[in-house]
Amino acid sequence: MNTVIYQIKDTIEDAKSLTEAGRIIREGGLVAFPTETVYGLGGDALSPASSRKIYAAKGRPSDNPLIVHIANTEDLEPITADIPEAGRKLADAFWPGPLTMIFRKSEKVPKETTGGLDTVAVRMPSDPVALAFIREAGGYVAAPSANLSGKPSPTSAKYVIQDMDGRIEMILDGGDVEIGLESTIVDLTEETPTILRPGYVTKEMLEQVLGTVDADRTMMEKDTGVAPKAPGMKYRHYAPKGDLVIVEGDSACVVDYINEQTGLLEKQGEKVAVIGTEETKMLYHAEIVKSVGSRNREETIAHTLYRVLREFDDMDVTRIFSESFDTTGMGQAIMNRLLKAAGHKVIHLCRSTNSD
Ligand code: AMP
Ligand code: MG
Repeated sequence: MNTVIYQIKDTIEDAKSLTEAGRIIREGGLVAFPTETVYGLGGDALSPASSRKIYAAKGRPSDNPLIVHIANTEDLEPITADIPEAGRKLADAFWPGPLTMIFRKSEKVPKETTGGLDTVAVRMPSDPVALAFIREAGGYVAAPSANLSGKPSPTSAKYVIQDMDGRIEMILDGGDVEIGLESTIVDLTEETPTILRPGYVTKEMLEQVLGTVDADRTMMEKDTGVAPKAPGMKYRHYAPKGDLVIVEGDSACVVDYINEQTGLLEKQGEKVAVIGTEETKMLYHAEIVKSVGSRNREETIAHTLYRVLREFDDMDVTRIFSESFDTTGMGQAIMNRLLKAAGHKVIHLCRSTNSD
């Protein structure tokens, strides 16, 4: 299949391409598009055949449900069986934006889209290109992240093209995304709203609107023996090609340990890379050292993490050491993704009692 790649130029020409992208979706095809979180791989959410095509293009297991993207709050009603008060409050507070809510689904949504579940995940993105595209497509676009299953989610069109060229009809290139990590998912079908996947919208932000909010305990832990409530969270996601280990402890111990390991492994012919920060990058001796951002500005780390993992893949890095991050606020989303990328491999080093 020939994939048309259209670069958004913020000119009058964009409208024609967005109409064309919408036509592709209405006729049952697939289009990758930018959102503020990561790039999405879109198809008609109300068509079983389109959802099947999405799973095939990604190589994604079909029990892993898709998120339905809408462009107007009014469009929520037809696809849900009921909208709890909490849903209206959260939509008012966070839509359009990086929050996905789980509702009981209506008949309109095929089980192919929801991975066989009676519930549906819905989000209204804030990216203006995404909104215009969804409207042109008929209002309901099912979209997982636009990567091949198991790879880090794409945060720029370059990586969408790497994974999806030849597999889908069109890619809308909107440049670098703003946030860089997938949306927060909150389940509203339980008595207490429950976070199934952490993201830019934190527990604290949700609690300001709703009062008490729970978090799925499988979110940060390994082998809890309990199945995660978001089926996709059980898969080894976001994995780079190289073997990734997180090193946790006082900064000086972490730097010493990583430098020692790097020396040994490079001598053995391994291609070693380090994920550091603006504060520490100059301390490492490895041949490849990348800063993911500043510890004082967590949004910079969220924005850069997937890109760095993808760059290591491009360089055929075989071993990766990463610093660890605090799990408060957005740090929880960052560590959730990093732990998955590392298959939960964490090395704990010295930690003085007065450290942060
Ligand atoms: P992605 O589209 O790649 O960001 O992945 C979507 C995530 O949303 C996966 O982890 C899914 O398991 C989760 N999800 C989608 N729909 C539902 C649902 N109805 N109930 C629980 N989790 C869902
Ligand atoms: Mg994904």
